[in-house]
Amino acid sequence: MKTHQSKNICLAPLKNKRIAILGYGSQGRAQALNLRDSGCKVVVGLRPKSFSFQKAKKEGIKALPIEQALEGSDLVCFLHPDEFQASVYKEYVQAILKKGMTLVFAHGFNITFQKIIPPKFIDVILVAPKGPGPTLRKAYLEKKGLPFLMAIHQDMSGEAKKLSLAFAKAAGCQNAPIFETTFPEETWTDLFGEQTVLCGGVVELMKAAFETLVKAGLSPEAAYFECFHELKFIVDLLHQGGISGMEKVISRTAHYGGMTRGASLIDQRVRKKLEKIFLEVKSGKFTKEWLCENQKGLPVYQKLSSQNLNHPIEVIGRRVRRLMGYERSS
Ligand code: NAD
Ligand code: MG
Repeated sequence: MKTHQSKNICLAPLKNKRIAILGYGSQGRAQALNLRDSGCKVVVGLRPKSFSFQKAKKEGIKALPIEQALEGSDLVCFLHPDEFQASVYKEYVQAILKKGMTLVFAHGFNITFQKIIPPKFIDVILVAPKGPGPTLRKAYLEKKGLPFLMAIHQDMSGEAKKLSLAFAKAAGCQNAPIFETTFPEETWTDLFGEQTVLCGGVVELMKAAFETLVKAGLSPEAAYFECFHELKFIVDLLHQGGISGMEKVISRTAHYGGMTRGASLIDQRVRKKLEKIFLEVKSGKFTKEWLCENQKGLPVYQKLSSQNLNHPIEVIGRRVRRLMGYERSS
């Protein structure tokens, strides 16, 4: 993957450009504040009744109804939920597009799966921070920044790459590197990673291991500590020094047990399932299912969320975290 160091990147492509950010949630807020503090001209476009409206104003950001935010904008950034981007594009953005404008995405979902098909006369870029919005803002304020991915879908102006790099630097990459990818690669890896490891696999593994210990008659507190609480310490070690960095710190017993049992747990059957999940992502099957779930009013989403909320690992977790002072009692 080609990489860029932000110290070599010039912010000039953003000079005198009006940046309209649609959404002021996790990414919208962090990127709007970072871009503003980097000297860019930023407006945020929101639905007038949106809760974010007052928040943005309070934080010194110019917040306007979407139509007004788009007026005279050079860059339009889609920083509201992926599942609403196509409807916002059709309702507000499509009609006002002019030559010289750029659409900016933080995730390639709608372009990759052709839910948004922009006209050829504009630029379309991806500038995706590798971390949640609050982490991005914190890293910016600490002058460290986060790594970013960038990609170009359309380069009508011939300036899309310079603009993407400048945008990443101003939005919070600062001293971190920028990696060049493509819209499909970012989209497929992002969806696959969150489903199989980050938000799906890890959570289900913790629940299954916790249930196994509790079913064997062990206390839920002990099971919570071993199967859930300590994950953070291991993840911090992995994040800093990779698998070998983590292995240097843990006991030899943990190292041997982990290598032998881990490999037998994640066996060929699991690997086949990983391939199936990837194919469902790549073919658009997952996307179709998710957009359909939204149209139906999120019945499966709500049912599964409430099952998670009431899972014994959550019940005991809330108690243990309160005792440790992590959560205020409600
Ligand atoms: P979010 O859920 O935090 O966005 C909420 C904001 O969008 C609010 O200001 C809300 O008023 C506005 N909004 C909600 N529905 C809307 C609608 N129908 N029309 C207009 N505005 C609406 O979103 P997010 O998690 O910050 O994600 C934004 C984009 O960034 C997505 O493309 C996502 O994939 C990408 N991304 C997110 C993260 C993350 O950490 N959350 C990380 C990398 C990339
Ligand atoms: Mg994602």
